[in-house]
Amino acid sequence: MSERAAPFHCPYCGDEDLRPSETPSERGTGAAWECRSCNRAFRLKFLGLLAQGLAPSPSDGSAGGAP
Ligand SMILES: [Zn+2]
Repeated sequence: MSERAAPFHCPYCGDEDLRPSETPSERGTGAAWECRSCNRAFRLKFLGLLAQGLAPSPSDGSAGGAP
């Protein structure tokens, strides 16, 4: 598994003009990215695997059936 995850869109403004942050970051804290559109810097961090996997979420009990 690769440790680097490249975001495709800025989580704040949705722009695609992202670049890796030049600021030195500590190891293990995640990759830092900068958005050139809204001038924000953010960090991506892998938190871990989901315990429940991809199991479908239980419905609220309203079995409508309509798509
Ligand atoms: Zn942005």
